[in-house]
Amino acid sequence: MPERFFLSEMEEMTGIAVSECYQCFRCTNGCPAARDMDIVPHRIIGYIISGERECVLSSAGLWACLQCAACSIRCPNGIDVARIFTVLRRMSVESGLAAQTNIHEFDTLMVESIARHGHMYELGTVMRYRLSRRELLKSYRMGIGMIKKRRIGLFPHNVADRNNIRSIIKKTGGRGK
Ligand code: SF4
Ligand code: SF4
Repeated sequence: MPERFFLSEMEEMTGIAVSECYQCFRCTNGCPAARDMDIVPHRIIGYIISGERECVLSSAGLWACLQCAACSIRCPNGIDVARIFTVLRRMSVESGLAAQTNIHEFDTLMVESIARHGHMYELGTVMRYRLSRRELLKSYRMGIGMIKKRRIGLFPHNVADRNNIRSIIKKTGGRGK
């Protein structure tokens, strides 16, 4: 059933005038992940406007988004569709409607790593993710190969001024520690 407050909730939360969308499809036409989405970007925006909260928050397409921002750049109305997708992902997890949670779990660990070290410590992040899913040995050969080729480091290197990075993460709603 449509929820009449979904649009105003989204506009308030993102500061974006979602209601100004006139369904021109430009966001979807430029989206490299649209073919993998059950609901493509312009339709997500359309469903927000018509109040289809459950349909939007349970969409698997939210998790196919690559956060490339092509949609936001192409929108003639300046609607930051990529940011809307980010906010929707968070809302879908919080509401228990998320079609999948593994990407959210990895994103959370990645942001925590950036807050701790000032950049992403790849090995530590992947190991924490694998441990949380009880699949520590999955892809370990590939990991060893990447370490040998120096594609990823064995130990983290901390950026000197991490406080600025932490405050940016906090401002954008992530965990700053
Ligand atoms: S490009 Fe902008 S105006 Fe066009 S459908 Fe997408 S969000 Fe709406
Ligand atoms: S940010 Fe997401 S929705 Fe927008 S164009 Fe890129 S993949 Fe598509």
